[in-house]
Amino acid sequence: MRLARQHAYISNARNDFLHKLSKAIIDENQVVVVEDINVKDLLKTRLAKSIADSGWSKFLTYLKCKAGGYGRTFIQVDRFFPSSKLCHRCGYKNEDFVLNERKWCCPACGETHDRDVNASINLYYVGLGRLKRGTVEQALVTNRSYPATK
Ligand SMILES: [Zn+2]
Repeated sequence: MRLARQHAYISNARNDFLHKLSKAIIDENQVVVVEDINVKDLLKTRLAKSIADSGWSKFLTYLKCKAGGYGRTFIQVDRFFPSSKLCHRCGYKNEDFVLNERKWCCPACGETHDRDVNASINLYYVGLGRLKRGTVEQALVTNRSYPATK
């Protein structure tokens, strides 16, 4: 009984955190851009426990719902958009970049990229609709207009 109570407590605390974090993000931003991550596939990797614990899917659901409720634009970029492989400065696509690498240097413009920062900037450009020519088609943006027009 005590164990069940403890599990319920942790679950409630996690939900509360996810609600507060998603609300803060929605309060502070007009446009929210996320990558459509394949959570099911990630649950098959060694990161499964931490991904399941953090409630990624639930967090995205909360973000999407709150965006709809507060009239924000929620953009979910297709999971095949190469956010970390594209140089945010010149648009060069690094085909050889693999998942466990953290940094890469663009051979076209010489910029050094941190994987996550570069991906964030590319997603930011998607949100602004400002991807460089030729890369817009690669964005394959899904759920572009959220909330749906009433
Ligand atoms: Zn470059």
